[in-house]
Amino acid sequence: MFDALANGFRQAKNRLAGLTELNEQNIDTALREVRLSLLEADVELGVVKAFLARVKEKALGEVVKLKTKSADGGTMKVTAGDQFTKICHDELVAFMTAEGPALTFADPHEKRPTGIMMVGLQGSGKTTTTAKLARYLQKEEKKKPLLVAADMQRPAAVEQLQVLGKSIGIPVFNIPGETPLNICIKAREEARAKGHDVIIYDTAGRLAIDEKLMDELGAIKESIQPENILLVVDSMIGQDAVKVSKGFHDKLELTGVVLTKLDGDARGGAALSVKEVTGAPVRFIGVGEGTDKFEEFRAEGMASRVLGMGDVVGLMKDFQSVVDEQKAAEDAMKMLQGDFSLDDFLNQIRMIQKMGSLKDIVGKMPGMDGMIPPDANLDDRELVKIEAIIQSFTPFEKKDPYALVREPGRVKRVAKGSGSTEQAVSELVQKFLFMRQMMSGLGQNMGLLGNIPGMK
Ligand code: GDP
Repeated sequence: MFDALANGFRQAKNRLAGLTELNEQNIDTALREVRLSLLEADVELGVVKAFLARVKEKALGEVVKLKTKSADGGTMKVTAGDQFTKICHDELVAFMTAEGPALTFADPHEKRPTGIMMVGLQGSGKTTTTAKLARYLQKEEKKKPLLVAADMQRPAAVEQLQVLGKSIGIPVFNIPGETPLNICIKAREEARAKGHDVIIYDTAGRLAIDEKLMDELGAIKESIQPENILLVVDSMIGQDAVKVSKGFHDKLELTGVVLTKLDGDARGGAALSVKEVTGAPVRFIGVGEGTDKFEEFRAEGMASRVLGMGDVVGLMKDFQSVVDEQKAAEDAMKMLQGDFSLDDFLNQIRMIQKMGSLKDIVGKMPGMDGMIPPDANLDDRELVKIEAIIQSFTPFEKKDPYALVREPGRVKRVAKGSGSTEQAVSELVQKFLFMRQMMSGLGQNMGLLGNIPGMK
């Protein structure tokens, strides 16, 4: 998470190394590094500009303060780099801090359950997040949630929520054949009857924001009057995450945003932009597929991660996963046997992405400047797109991408869901199938299977 940003801030600090004082010139030099890394991390341009302006203003203010201090004979204890980092930290926090609590609970005297309406586009991770939130409330807040499967749009969504609910021991309410609105209304009766104090509604997703969806969600909101409306957004779609948030917020007045898949997004630009652009604060983050991979969003913690100041443990884990030889050998084995799914392919892509950030580090080492081609970032973006496409496949399609090609309309839907084109989806599937076929042919023809270290 945030590799690109952390590198940029570190580089900015390096530019100030050895300097004891900030001045207009060295502030500008450091800010150029920050600007580059913010853009690279896919932070919205307006946000980049606003952030740089605020940091510059504060930093120049410090210059004046320090001058006054030195005139007083005061001693300076901090270096220019530390000071700059501190200002960036404070401004990052200011950009991301959310007003009020993450969730609002109904007044206990009123004896009605708290409503949490989950909204979002298909593939964003809405259903998974609904279960994650229920588990979180049960564990952290000692609540007794009822899950409501009201996403009748995506065929497997109801069943998926039922499976997830079972795994965390939380009941799921649904009435087959009913309209989403009626399901939500009936769910409240069920919750009262069974003593649930929180109801989490998993509402219909669509591939893109459309009027019909908004009308349906608007009607549900009107009828159930939930205390909370959380939008689930996939951080991997970068700036589109901000656009989607704005679209939903304008129509539904969200109480917050949940950013998912931050574990896979090395850029993390959405975390910085969402609140500033849309006014809707980020309340929670998803950091993995499991129901426990869910955290309340804390601006302070995020700012530290962005500045590369904390989370050494996380970094070590990333590093280990890059150099996991056993896993690499297993993947090679699977490939050669032709038993290589799109999920395995995705893991490989993630490894390459991590290598991409290593590439950044190499590029910034003395004497290595200019050795990395200027279009290196484009590769990163391509990888992110591929990742977004694969994430939009069903588990079955990941194992057997032929299924996707066989079913009319699926390619189109995946393209829409991942913000991509039909051509890109088809090409990806074709390339993958070709690669898998080639690799399995290689394995059979060359008798390589016994030669992989640790695989005998
Ligand atoms: P929905 O269509 O919005 O309901 O999306 P799903 O809940 O089915 O999620 C789509 C895919 O994203 C699934 O494969 C999830 O396991 C995955 N997913 C959801 N949240 C996260 C997350 O925070 N990190 C990762 N890595 N995957 C996630």
